[in-house]
Amino acid sequence: MLTIRATRVGGASTLSQIVQSVEVALSTKAPVESVADRVSRWFVPAVIVVSAVAFGGGIWFGLHPGASLMRAIAVLVIACPCALGIATPLAITAAVGAASTRGILVSNARVFEQFRKVDLVVLDKTGTLTEGNFQLLATSVDTALPLVAALERCSGHPIARTIVRHVEELGLPIPEAHDVVVHPGQGIEGVVEGGRVVVGNRTLVPPGSTIEGAFHTTTVVYAAVDGVFRGWIALGDRIRPDAAGLVSMLRAGGIETLVVSGDSRENTASVARDVGATAFFAEVLPAGKAEIIREHQKAGKVVAMIGDGVNDVPALAAADIGIALGHGTDLTIQAAPVVLMAPRLAGVLEIFTLSRRTLQVVRQNLFWAFFYNCAGMTLAITGLLNPILAAGAMVLSSLSVIGNSLRLYENRRVQS
Ligand code: ADP
Ligand code: MG
Repeated sequence: MLTIRATRVGGASTLSQIVQSVEVALSTKAPVESVADRVSRWFVPAVIVVSAVAFGGGIWFGLHPGASLMRAIAVLVIACPCALGIATPLAITAAVGAASTRGILVSNARVFEQFRKVDLVVLDKTGTLTEGNFQLLATSVDTALPLVAALERCSGHPIARTIVRHVEELGLPIPEAHDVVVHPGQGIEGVVEGGRVVVGNRTLVPPGSTIEGAFHTTTVVYAAVDGVFRGWIALGDRIRPDAAGLVSMLRAGGIETLVVSGDSRENTASVARDVGATAFFAEVLPAGKAEIIREHQKAGKVVAMIGDGVNDVPALAAADIGIALGHGTDLTIQAAPVVLMAPRLAGVLEIFTLSRRTLQVVRQNLFWAFFYNCAGMTLAITGLLNPILAAGAMVLSSLSVIGNSLRLYENRRVQS
């Protein structure tokens, strides 16, 4: 257990980190944006040439120099690529804003383009597909229970909270623990009342009588003191009501789903089956989750990872798109370009849909901006558009791009 002194506040807080990461998102360039930049670089000299040609051509065809100059100016005015310049950043900004109104923080504009390419979604089990709200169902640990609670008091895992609450409710005094080491994805160990206590899954605790297969969708943790097996604790968790819906919607979109968990094979298999996932990996450590993702990336797949805990951070960072769920700890916020502030799995589908619509809007914006410029220039060269009207048309083209981008805020519901 830690006694904490705050040495940095304000600017270093989680909230301001979130604000910062959103600011970074707005300033990062999406690849589409660089396309627009390249086109603009070519566009401006071309317009100057066209304007010069309009002036020269006017004189050539015997027009008054003043009238020719008006045409040249009208070309310059109408061709001003404002709409072109704002077409992409505006759509991206609107998309980041629209996402945030749904409790989804996007800290990298690139994700809007990457979602379209995702082939595989990797899902963490505990706390992501399940609620991570454990109920203690049964236990065979007797006199060692306070020792177990002493260790679990030092852990932030949802399993730990449930065990501590249970022991407190029994009215048993909980001793102090020392030299505590947390093994993410496995369990926890330390010294309590002079004994070396270990609590966790099969990979951590020496073998003893197990109850594998007895409970389904139940997590079982084991306890040992000084290398001697002392019993099991069975904990029930619930699958999130929207988990199966998410998996089936992803499948309908041709996206595979893979469940990864540090929990037992039996339990992971049963959750994977219940939500309808394509495959699963059980008893994987945090680094293992990242490794599985890299393997799939090597096979040419674009992978999104959805996870909730510190044990998912390496995987969130390894994935092409990391989506962190809920709690929003500093680490997960930094590792994942997408954060769902509320643990709402439907948010994943919403951000998929929003990304698709954002790319659509970007393409429409670019098309209309080009269209306005080209049509306007033709009119200007032929003298049908004077500079004043050209200025008006310019504003209209920018307004149309703004209006189109703001459509991303529409509260369109995702069908489930
Ligand atoms: P997931 O990968 O499904 O999110 P975790 O990586 O959080 O699951 O945990 C994997 C397994 O490690 C748990 O099912 C449990 O058996 C064990 N474990 C992790 N933390 C603890 C803890 N504090 N106490 C006991 N067991 C733990
Ligand atoms: Mg988890």
